[in-house]
Amino acid sequence: MKAGIHPNYYQAKVVCNCGNEFVTGSTKENIRVEVCSKCHSFYTGQQKTAAARGAIEKFNRKYGINQDN
Ligand SMILES: [Zn+2]
Repeated sequence: MKAGIHPNYYQAKVVCNCGNEFVTGSTKENIRVEVCSKCHSFYTGQQKTAAARGAIEKFNRKYGINQDN
């Protein structure tokens, strides 16, 4: 076994600020993210600020996207 030729490849645990965790392949062992597909306002419809809400609604109108929540 020769070591150090290839970078270590982990099943990295990604931890989001919302508490969601998921696993992905990465050369890093642990990854922290601020938003994921579960909590991103684009997916959840829960905006942090009214400004963000307005911007996203404008975006949705522009592209004809309807959100249920
Ligand atoms: Zn998240």
